[in-house]
Amino acid sequence: MLGKPAQCELNEKTWCQCPSDEEDHLSALIELVCKECSRHFKPEALHVCEFCFGPLEVSYDYEQISSSTLKEEIQNGPNTMWRYSKLLPVSDSLPVDLGAGFTPLIRADRLGSQLGLSHLYIKDDTRNPTGSFKDRVVSVALTKARQLGFKVAACASTGNLANSVAAHAARAGMEAYIFIPYDLEKAKVVTTAVYGSNLIAVKGNYDDVNRLCAELTSEVPDWAFVNVNVRPYYAEGSKTLAFEVAEQLGFNLPDHVVVPIASGSQLTKVDKGFEELKKVGLVNSNKVVRISGAQATGCSPVAQAFRQNDDFIRPVKPDTIAKSLAIGNPADGYYAMEAVRNTGGSIESASDPEIVEGIKLLARTEGIFTETAGGVTVANLVKLVESGVVDKDEVVVALITGHGLKTVEAIESSVGPTVTIEPKLNSFMEAYSELEFSSEIEVE
Ligand SMILES: *Cc1c(COP(=O)(O)O)cnc(C)c1O
Ligand SMILES: [Zn+2]
Repeated sequence: MLGKPAQCELNEKTWCQCPSDEEDHLSALIELVCKECSRHFKPEALHVCEFCFGPLEVSYDYEQISSSTLKEEIQNGPNTMWRYSKLLPVSDSLPVDLGAGFTPLIRADRLGSQLGLSHLYIKDDTRNPTGSFKDRVVSVALTKARQLGFKVAACASTGNLANSVAAHAARAGMEAYIFIPYDLEKAKVVTTAVYGSNLIAVKGNYDDVNRLCAELTSEVPDWAFVNVNVRPYYAEGSKTLAFEVAEQLGFNLPDHVVVPIASGSQLTKVDKGFEELKKVGLVNSNKVVRISGAQATGCSPVAQAFRQNDDFIRPVKPDTIAKSLAIGNPADGYYAMEAVRNTGGSIESASDPEIVEGIKLLARTEGIFTETAGGVTVANLVKLVESGVVDKDEVVVALITGHGLKTVEAIESSVGPTVTIEPKLNSFMEAYSELEFSSEIEVE
């Protein structure tokens, strides 16, 4: 039960949330708290602290949660991310839902043995409704937006968010305005436009699009910008990655998780997710999950700051095939770096050719086709093993966050038919004998 009123000593706007009897109590949400000055705010459409402009974070009443009841609720819940409603910031028995989450955690023995890892797992988030992990954050954001009374959904996107907002808005019957850089991958444009929302291509990069949307929020206060004015709620959706990984390991924590970084939100929330499971007593509270970040070298402001042991993240102009991670001025970059430092991980970066090789390596060894962001994760995992940051005996989880069909351009010049033949038996037999011959040479 969401019982006691939130107390705030710091702020004259003390408020009390005493839920009415009819309300659902699915969520233990109590308030928003400023990450910098710890002032408390009512859980509305706010994203920065009005006193210090710090980002706002959702907080819950962990004390009201009993671990055994929660475990039962989770295990009896739907086979989606909504099995963790208690630790999500919405009380709605009917979320805006296309079935995001509860994706498979796959033991990756073949990739593991190539890398020399004995316990490698892939969290396969390519299997989400629109093919990326963004469905997790959008499902939460639009559920919250609807609850707060918004009729219009909007976002600035590097592509996957656009797909997901368009699909979930269609599902919810909401109007949507979606802003993307004009040079996105074709598949991401098509698979957004098909849902019938307003798709605005902006002649600029993601950071330009994001700035435009930040300016727009004050012009159209009745739009829910999923990653601006409802960002604190949106971001919470990423925690479900951590919840699922732990549950799928039998309510055990992994040793090390490798997470791609765009804005850095996902990484900080994966960390928060593990911490919350410890707080509510569902996993061993003494264990620290090491978290490492993965960037593309062509857009690696967080990896650079980490390497230089700098607290300031210098914005960069992105130039990489990993467009879904191409945020030059990452909003949560500092907090992501802090989580990595606190847990004893590292942040590496991989070049475009290494990303392509990462995509192919995962496909070849595990049968999973990922977009460039997943190539970034795999390529960085290779480096983390080589540099000894990832220990060979650790239980390692690599987050594969988007489907390969979204970024076919990235690899189409390096893969294709093995051979092209005439539709005749002897044409094939000739080609086959050559193929056999060349594969024998390879084996030797
Ligand atoms: C957006 C995105 C990420 C990372 O997102 P953050 O902004 O760091 O939370 C990772 N992978 C894919 C495929 C994405 O679309
Ligand atoms: Zn503040």
